[in-house]
Amino acid sequence: MTIVHRTINYALRAVNRVITFALPWLPRWMVQPFASPYVAGETVDDAIRHIRALNQQGYSTTLDILGEHVQSREEAQVVTDAYCNLFDRIHTENLDSTVSIKPTHLGLELDKEIAKTNIQKIASKAEKYRNGLTIDMENSPYTDATLDIYKMCVNNYNGVGTVLQSYLFRSIEDVRNFHSQNFHIRICKGIYRESPSIAHQTREDIRDNFIRMVKTSLRGQGFTAIATHDPVLIDTLDNWISDHNISKDRFEFQVLYGVPMGDKLDILKNKGYSVRIYVPFGAAWFDYSIRRLKENPNIIWYVLANLFKR
Ligand SMILES: Cc1cc2nc3c(=O)[nH]c(=O)nc-3n(C[C@H](O)[C@H](O)[C@H](O)COP(=O)(O)OP(=O)(O)OC[C@H]3O[C@@H](n4cnc5c(N)ncnc54)[C@H](O)[C@@H]3O)c2cc1C
Repeated sequence: MTIVHRTINYALRAVNRVITFALPWLPRWMVQPFASPYVAGETVDDAIRHIRALNQQGYSTTLDILGEHVQSREEAQVVTDAYCNLFDRIHTENLDSTVSIKPTHLGLELDKEIAKTNIQKIASKAEKYRNGLTIDMENSPYTDATLDIYKMCVNNYNGVGTVLQSYLFRSIEDVRNFHSQNFHIRICKGIYRESPSIAHQTREDIRDNFIRMVKTSLRGQGFTAIATHDPVLIDTLDNWISDHNISKDRFEFQVLYGVPMGDKLDILKNKGYSVRIYVPFGAAWFDYSIRRLKENPNIIWYVLANLFKR
């Protein structure tokens, strides 16, 4: 690394530290303009409006109620009921939307059994409506417990999937272990900061592992969701998929709501590929955005760059 690179990195890290320190004191009105392009409102009605518009544009969606790390069994129960009601609503409104959940939002930090019971309840709702449920992957202290709960769900309910993060060394082995007929895996880079002892740190290594994981997954059975905005990954995998005649019902591309993608998504849709948009909503948008930004201040640079792209 040259001295110039090292100086830029040092300056960026210093700015990130200042931002991280200042974030908790920022008022909601100041954070709102930065968070709002990525959040589909505060209420279920707000989210439904956005979903309907996205469905009309030819996108499938997955809905997420913002929040994580609940502090009590009762709070986890309220969130569970909200997710069950969300499945009812998606069904009655005839929307093309699955649901994504975070295990610590359903009590995983309190007790694995609480999360397991709550996720089972939501999975049975998903199955009732023949809809899909994805168990998001949080940071590494929760990886094993999340995969255990996922395996339990796969054995008991249809339509449940989970997420593997390409920055973790272990993930390629996890993909190989999921070579069964009904696995459903979203592959993403991973949004948390993880230690170099368990995770790739460079952009190139994370990309390479992403590509290896998707190819391994698509060579097996089951369904693979390719969740990235990275044009290099999208183009590389799109070419590989065409060269290997992978059937269109074996995979889909996924992106986060609000991230500018230029004409990339239209190109994918025109090829007949499914594109699903991950749509978060809910009253907890402020706490959630602050926690995410504190954990990974690099997101601030994405958000600023995206403002200019818009
Ligand atoms: C559908 C979906 C579901 C996900 N689920 C999980 C999960 O369960 N667990 C998990 O750890 N991570 C999850 N992620 C996040 C993922 O791990 C990455 O952190 C994120 O997608 C950025 O990586 P990238 O592949 O898009 O590439 P990058 O190179 O990081 O990003 C490419 C470009 O995308 C834009 N961008 C990326 N992320 C953001 C953002 N947050 N805000 C604004 N612009 C952005 C920027 O313009 C950036 O330059 C999910 C991502 C997607 C798309």
